[in-house]
Amino acid sequence: MASPVRLVVLGRQGAGKGTQCARLAQHYGALHISTGDMLRAAVAEGTEFGRKANEYMSAGDLVPDDVMLGVVTDRLAKPDAVEHGFLLDGYPRNVSQAEALDGMVGADGIDRVIDIDVPLEVVLERIKGRARSDDNEEAVRRRLELYETQTRPLTAFYEARGKMATVDGVGSEDEVFERLRKVIDEGSQRS
Ligand code: ADP
Repeated sequence: MASPVRLVVLGRQGAGKGTQCARLAQHYGALHISTGDMLRAAVAEGTEFGRKANEYMSAGDLVPDDVMLGVVTDRLAKPDAVEHGFLLDGYPRNVSQAEALDGMVGADGIDRVIDIDVPLEVVLERIKGRARSDDNEEAVRRRLELYETQTRPLTAFYEARGKMATVDGVGSEDEVFERLRKVIDEGSQRS
């Protein structure tokens, strides 16, 4: 049997990360681990943790790194993630989180980092059409800005390790899925 995939998926807000990760997870029999979904679940449960996280999320800010470290460390250590592999969606979001991820899985613990690339003007149009509670205009603008300043540097970080791949995220859902699948399958043949 093929070994489990361990992937990080990057892409600005509205790039289609969530949708594509769900499909890829199914295709590769891996887990879709979305830190945004995990945080939203905590908010919906109304826990103290969720209440705190929501203060950052509704403002479009990042939840502090030390908090995220705990959340992601616990999740990746669960037997299902170890056994089936994962697509990490929403983490890491800055270089400090990428270094923390190294600590969790080892410097060579991720097979590939894929950026789903969609131009700013296209994601702005797409985001207009969705209705999440943290999608107010100000918070979206702030998240897109943070993406450029905090998350974009991860491209160079992973490029230096030969892990980085960029996939054109403009096109139909099926087209983008096929491009992703190709990149992932080629990557695993090389290793
Ligand atoms: P988006 O990509 O639209 O920002 P996500 O679902 O990935 O949506 O995340 C929603 C919110 O959850 C973020 O705006 C942020 O406040 C918080 N969040 C998710 N992942 C992280 C992370 N790795 N570090 C800090 N905050 C995070």
